[in-house]
Amino acid sequence: NTLEARIKSDIREIPDFPKPGIGYKDITTLLDNPERFAEVIDAFKARYAEQNIDHIVAIESRGFIFGAPLAYALGVGLSLVRKPGKLPYKCHSVDYALEYGSDTVEMHIDAVKEGGRVLVIDDLLATGGTAAAACKLVEACGGEVVECAFLVELAFINAREAKLKDQKVFALATY
Ligand code: IMP
Repeated sequence: NTLEARIKSDIREIPDFPKPGIGYKDITTLLDNPERFAEVIDAFKARYAEQNIDHIVAIESRGFIFGAPLAYALGVGLSLVRKPGKLPYKCHSVDYALEYGSDTVEMHIDAVKEGGRVLVIDDLLATGGTAAAACKLVEACGGEVVECAFLVELAFINAREAKLKDQKVFALATY
């Protein structure tokens, strides 16, 4: 009974959401298990405690859920990657392609310091488009992405060999 097995047993799979053919991973059931949520944050903390991380960069919105307690646990700053128009100060902005159309993410120009060592975090890795855009925002600030971390990786989509091929990737549970 590994941590990965325990995580998977707490994730609810919703068939055909948001469209037919997609098996959606619902992490709300894991968040509602305090023991599991604590284990998840502790596992990330154990991995990154000795890696001289300066900033956690968390991706809206479920990345915030994991990024905030991890930033607290590691004693480092938390920086936010958000959808357009949400952040009040000057932003770097990156567009990325979706299956149909495109999307944009933004981060404050001073969210990450020059040369800062950054951990990018989100709940789930699918195509990697979102995380790759977040990495570009970090690099636009002059920061260095140490790794991209996820609770869940949909490995059958193969983001590691495609959109995230230039980054190190870590996930606690893989499908
Ligand atoms: P990507 O950019 O294709 O890697 O998609 C990742 C983004 O979509 C993340 O911010 C996830 O929160 C969200 N996402 C995609 N599929 C799922 C899912 O099955 N469950 C929860 N979130 C998902």
